[in-house]
Amino acid sequence: MPAITNHMPTAELQALDAAHHMHPFTNNDELAAKGARVITRAKGVYLTDSEGVEILDGMAGLWCVNIGYGREELADVASRQMRELPYYNTFFQTTHVPAIALAAKIAEKAPGDLNHVFFASGGSEANDTNIRMVRAYWQAKGKPGKSIIISRKNAYHGTSMGSASLGGMSAMHAQGGMPIPDIHHINQPYWWGEGGDTAPEDFGLARAQELEAAILQYGEDKVAAFIAEPIQGAGGVIVPPATYWPEIQRICDKYEILLIADEVICGFGRTGNWFGSETMGIRPDIMTIAKGLSSGYQPIGGSIVTDEVAAVLDSIEFNHGYTYSGHPVAAAVALENIRIMEEEGIVEHVRDVIAPYLAEKWTALADHPLVGDTSIVGMMGSLALTPDKAARAKFASEAGTIGYICRERCFANNLVMRHVGDRMIISPPLVMTPGEADILIERATRALDETYARVKDEGLLKAAS
Ligand SMILES: *Cc1c(COP(=O)(O)O)cnc(C)c1O
Repeated sequence: MPAITNHMPTAELQALDAAHHMHPFTNNDELAAKGARVITRAKGVYLTDSEGVEILDGMAGLWCVNIGYGREELADVASRQMRELPYYNTFFQTTHVPAIALAAKIAEKAPGDLNHVFFASGGSEANDTNIRMVRAYWQAKGKPGKSIIISRKNAYHGTSMGSASLGGMSAMHAQGGMPIPDIHHINQPYWWGEGGDTAPEDFGLARAQELEAAILQYGEDKVAAFIAEPIQGAGGVIVPPATYWPEIQRICDKYEILLIADEVICGFGRTGNWFGSETMGIRPDIMTIAKGLSSGYQPIGGSIVTDEVAAVLDSIEFNHGYTYSGHPVAAAVALENIRIMEEEGIVEHVRDVIAPYLAEKWTALADHPLVGDTSIVGMMGSLALTPDKAARAKFASEAGTIGYICRERCFANNLVMRHVGDRMIISPPLVMTPGEADILIERATRALDETYARVKDEGLLKAAS
């Protein structure tokens, strides 16, 4: 077989891809029929495909390329680290400089006394660690009965058996015996979609109090932890009402339930602070991190725990770990990513410059006839598409039909914007400039116009009854 390179015709690359490559979260037959878009290069906030077309990446890859594409420093650090020490483990009383330095740096950046890091290769693995960690923690404290973890419907915590069980995606649970035992889900704080006639503040309180009801139902002595994303990402960038998080914190404190904040998306600047927990005013016992930790340049994640949690776990042998926990190349790249973020003031850029600029334009999209709700915190935003704004109505068509059309129109206008059902979501690189934000909004508006025209044409502008 000849070498497969960037220079092959797109159709040949697509045919080989269809023949041998199974895509995640994809109907591969349908994809094979149309051919996957082949991305060959990227720089800043732009991707280039195999036809030479430049596409604005409104999703920062998969919510991860926070410092943008093409940073030579990260390539240099990776190559230096590969030459010096490409791999060593941290299992058997050994360690190495990249893992030491990254753990210390993360402890410095994380709020409060979140000072200890257990490494993984991504968010799913880190959340699997968390399941085992909170159960081992309560065992070590003489309360082995505390094993239930409460999560939320429509949460996303990864795709391994443990992390997908923590997640609240019913389509995932339906394929393969999930959730695993002792994981339960309460409702999400999604006011626009589920709040009905209740005021947002009351709805936020009510949804938080479902946690208290669940703890009382299962028994305080049975519940180990509650896990949630500060702002739901893959569920549709759902920003809870302001009353929600303070009430959750109160309940976790009252019943001594460990609070796990899944910061895989919110962490490392996305919400305008280093961590989403700071933006939402919560004090987690454990944070899950991945994605923006390395800006996606290397696969790495982890769990950050408080002094107290670490003290308990340090008193036992925790029988857990991954071959690539603290992988030296990934750790070195993550450390360099954080160094760049600090040196260039990227979190401040989000907070003071680009997020306020983007928010103003994003919120104005509410004037579009198809847009019912605009949410944005830092550099993560969403639009709810609706046939009837006043009623906050869903479409009569199957959920996701209109969102999919809109996503295709975005792609046709050289913008990557994803859909979750009929919500459109963005999570652009944090280094975006105001000029680039203008282009994003311009393309999004064109895509919305084209979607609206097509939805009207095809008689799809109907509300579900
Ligand atoms: C992406 C994501 C994960 C899973 O991370 P992987 O690296 O894909 O395993 C977990 N939690 C949240 C909130 C995520 O967005």
